[in-house]
Amino acid sequence: MTKSRLALYIIVISLLLAGARTLPLAANRAAAPASEDAVDSQAFLQSHMTPAGPAASASAPAVEKLLAQMTLREKVGQMTQLTIETIVDGKDQDIRINPEKLHKAVAEYGVGSLLNVFDQALSLEKWHEIQRAIQAEAKNTRLQIPVLYGIDSIHGTTYVEGGTLFPQPLAMAATWNPELMLRGSQISAAETRKAGISWSFSPVLDVGRQPLWPRLYETFGEDTYLATVMGVATVRGYEGDDISSPLQVSSSLKHYIGYSYPTTGGDRSPALIPESTLREYFLPTFAAAVKAGAHTVMVNSAEVNGIPGHINGYLLKAVLRDELGFQGVVVSDWGDIERLVTAHHIAATEKEATRLAILAGVDMSMVPTDYRFSDLLLQLVQEGQVPEARINEAVRRILTLKYQLGLFTDPLRGVDANTKLGSPESRQASLAAAQESITLLKNENRALPLAKTARVLVTGPEADSLIPLDNGWSYTWQGNKASAYPTQGYATILAAIRQKIGADHVTFLPGASFDQETDITQAATAASAANVDAIVVCLGEWAYAETPGNIADLALPDAQIHLAQKLLESGKPVIVVLTEGRPRIIRPIVAGARAIVMAYNPGNEGGQAIADILFGDVNPSGKLPLTYPRYADMLSTYDHKTLEGDEGPNAPLYAPQFEFGYGLSYTTYAYSDLQVTPAAATGNQKIQVAVTVKNTGDRAGKEVLELFVNEQAASVTPPLKRLKRFAKMLLQPGETRRYTFELDKEDLSFINAANKQVVEPGLFQLQIAGLTQSFEWK
Ligand code: BGC
Repeated sequence: MTKSRLALYIIVISLLLAGARTLPLAANRAAAPASEDAVDSQAFLQSHMTPAGPAASASAPAVEKLLAQMTLREKVGQMTQLTIETIVDGKDQDIRINPEKLHKAVAEYGVGSLLNVFDQALSLEKWHEIQRAIQAEAKNTRLQIPVLYGIDSIHGTTYVEGGTLFPQPLAMAATWNPELMLRGSQISAAETRKAGISWSFSPVLDVGRQPLWPRLYETFGEDTYLATVMGVATVRGYEGDDISSPLQVSSSLKHYIGYSYPTTGGDRSPALIPESTLREYFLPTFAAAVKAGAHTVMVNSAEVNGIPGHINGYLLKAVLRDELGFQGVVVSDWGDIERLVTAHHIAATEKEATRLAILAGVDMSMVPTDYRFSDLLLQLVQEGQVPEARINEAVRRILTLKYQLGLFTDPLRGVDANTKLGSPESRQASLAAAQESITLLKNENRALPLAKTARVLVTGPEADSLIPLDNGWSYTWQGNKASAYPTQGYATILAAIRQKIGADHVTFLPGASFDQETDITQAATAASAANVDAIVVCLGEWAYAETPGNIADLALPDAQIHLAQKLLESGKPVIVVLTEGRPRIIRPIVAGARAIVMAYNPGNEGGQAIADILFGDVNPSGKLPLTYPRYADMLSTYDHKTLEGDEGPNAPLYAPQFEFGYGLSYTTYAYSDLQVTPAAATGNQKIQVAVTVKNTGDRAGKEVLELFVNEQAASVTPPLKRLKRFAKMLLQPGETRRYTFELDKEDLSFINAANKQVVEPGLFQLQIAGLTQSFEWK
């Protein structure tokens, strides 16, 4: 089903660990790293915050000259974005440009931008054929303005056959390693641009604080600081220092703002977010990414406090433009001007909706399939309902972006670049990310790693498919079309385990589909058989994207729980592997499982990465970027307030299955000597927070140091703790490192009741791995 039809209803490759897969561990030990090897969140942010590259002002004279020659029809055309469906015949890989349709869009309507696929990833050759035709048509127009093509490269090169798919962003966040995110985005940018596409609708900077939300896996999890670091890494990976480079694309920060916190948990569903909360938790990701130079922003399809994102002039102008200083293009989301009438009921007619959205600050409408937006906007300007100055402002931004992307010099920039899709280096980067993302949540009596001599029953609906490894936005929008996936070269979990220990050591029975019991009895019988030493049960979610991914219950479907329970009856060690875009409730099987491995959606190399972890070739180092709930009705995030959970009469309100930031290793770490200097500070003084960490186990591992801060008393009730810094570092067995974080005043601040960022004097507590120290701000 095509997206438009459905819409009617409704990411320095970490060679060290990657190498560990093929290198014997002894080789890792030989090369004890220098302490600079740590990836420090704040050092990363600071070094990537000042973008270079051509400023908007460089192209200003050329833009003004062009603007002065444009008719009103041409201007509103530039503000129009249509899906590829409107210019092709056929679908999937069989699409062909329809010359009349293309002419109507580009020549007659002067459409400024096109997007996406219909409905499946295309080969590089096909992309080149399409892009050449589009840009040739544009070259034939009076003013020869190139067409800007945009695509959802959400977790790598989603829609180009042979492109590298990375773990989904939630998994990338679980690496707590922004260098991996940066590298992944660089690869995705180069591969996307190789297809002649210069605009990526990514990253999702909505902070994932509502676990039901079907777009959670597109986010960097529930914490604002972690999401900020990863978001900046993505933007810098996509955009580099110069988006006109054949290796870079423009990013799009989405979905501004408040989209990820719907009351119902559903996609495109209303949120109620007080401004202080919006500013505390949801704005910083966007603010940092704007500062890092992002060129476009996409608007929230839903509504906050009763005002749809697309007509919220306060957020789109006063906050985004005036306060954050954003200068680029604001694009609507899919069909959202029409939805102001049909879904939000905030406007009676599409014309009025168009007027409201354009005046609120939308520069380009992702229409996506007809010309009504162009026609209505033209009328509105002719009737004086929208000032032409507002049109000029939007078109100026769009033309500037096209200049910055180098499209006026070469609209097909990237097509001739030396980029190889899915190269061994790119795949290695994806594998390294998957390996560092996988999070070990339970490992009773060191059930893992499994011996390579073990005879294993592999079972569960997720065991033998690439679909749950990738989830949505993979070859197709929903990511659930098996025939669109590569048939060779990528291992499912089952295939990777067979490769690892030999097919003759592996028995496979699916046991259940995602939500139906199939052969549970046979799987249980196989589990009890003498030739099985351990059971790897692969549970989780099937693929979904956006609204079709809405759920009524966070619990893992009964069929899967039942399968796991039957396997537990065998008395054999049961290892649960989870591939899922959301933390589905697994409480009934947690106590019985000997080990639990959270793999998120680890991408095309995920099967390999999971097998590497299960059999000990890689030591897990992922940490949860979210709170894993125990109960479907107890969904507080880690940074909740006292009365939401931990103390006093409301104690049972917060009892997560696994805490944010949690994740085990095959080695152990001991923390000591947390020290804060000075013990009291004020003004512009910096605060040094030092801790000693030792690898007390017998193998090398990567550990994430997480620094949390809380204030004892504040004028807005303070959360119990907030993440303020983290650092990921390799520690050899027996190695001890003293690591120092530096905080400043801003890290002690919060948004007060007057929506202002303030630091209030008082006592603070600093925490790392259960150690705490007090500190006073005067
Ligand atoms: C999604 C966006 C996406 C756009 C284009 C919308 O439905 O909300 O995230 O970029 O479609 O596919």
